Amino acid sequence: MPEGDTVWQAAQRLHAALAGRTLTRSDFRVPRYATVDLTGRTVLDVTPRGKHLLTRIEGGLTLHSHLRMDGAWKVFAAGQRWSGGPAHQIRVILGTADRTAVGYRLPVLELLRTADEQRAVGHLGPDLLGPDWDPEQALANLREDPARPLGEALLDQRNLAGIGNVYKCELCFLLGVTPWLPVGELPADRAAKLPALAQRLLEANRDRPVRRTTGLRGQDLFVYGRAPRPCLRCGTSVRLADQGDGSRERPTYWCPACQAGPAPRPGGFTGAGRRRKGT
Ligand SMILES: [Zn+2]
Repeated sequence: MPEGDTVWQAAQRLHAALAGRTLTRSDFRVPRYATVDLTGRTVLDVTPRGKHLLTRIEGGLTLHSHLRMDGAWKVFAAGQRWSGGPAHQIRVILGTADRTAVGYRLPVLELLRTADEQRAVGHLGPDLLGPDWDPEQALANLREDPARPLGEALLDQRNLAGIGNVYKCELCFLLGVTPWLPVGELPADRAAKLPALAQRLLEANRDRPVRRTTGLRGQDLFVYGRAPRPCLRCGTSVRLADQGDGSRERPTYWCPACQAGPAPRPGGFTGAGRRRKGT
């Protein structure tokens, strides 16, 4: 699942392949841009902003894309077999003399004037991997809605940009609180640690192929994906429940012993009937 570090890696790959080179192939496979032709233009740079990718192209154009759940940008050398998925999932192809970048399943793909980039990314909070990173502002944004569950607030890219569902779960574990704890109830010492901890996690992982948060040999993550196996720290069975704002539910993992705060009741998300057994 793409998070800030994945997007950062995709931007690096695209930048290395395209920046400073002239496009010799431009093939948009979305109806809206079917007639757009960027050949002959030079790619200036590819920059990540939170989980968004901005490909800036000569002539004041920016190709804005977002990977969401399973989108991907792949770069292929001439003659290399394309491997990002079936051809009907390709949304755009940008080629230079020796490299071809292929965007698969991109749910967001829009061509903007570079001067209008703010329309696409202006809503984002401070970017954990960006030059605008501002820990105080990020914390202030998170605290603006003190009743909101911490897990939801961390995923809201308007607060701080770059955290996806994996880091949400791992951060809550490292902070020792459940993702359902209202932001306003986060103890002051842990709130103070939060921005730096989040940035460390993303920075440590931006060049790694596999995401790691633990520093333990053979174990990459503390809780994400572990339920119902034992917690790496205390041995309690890791729990799994959905967390969402109504529009989108995310599988959420936590250790009920290591993490303090509210949590859905066992079985609560699989149906209320079970809890009333025997009544
Ligand atoms: Zn534990």
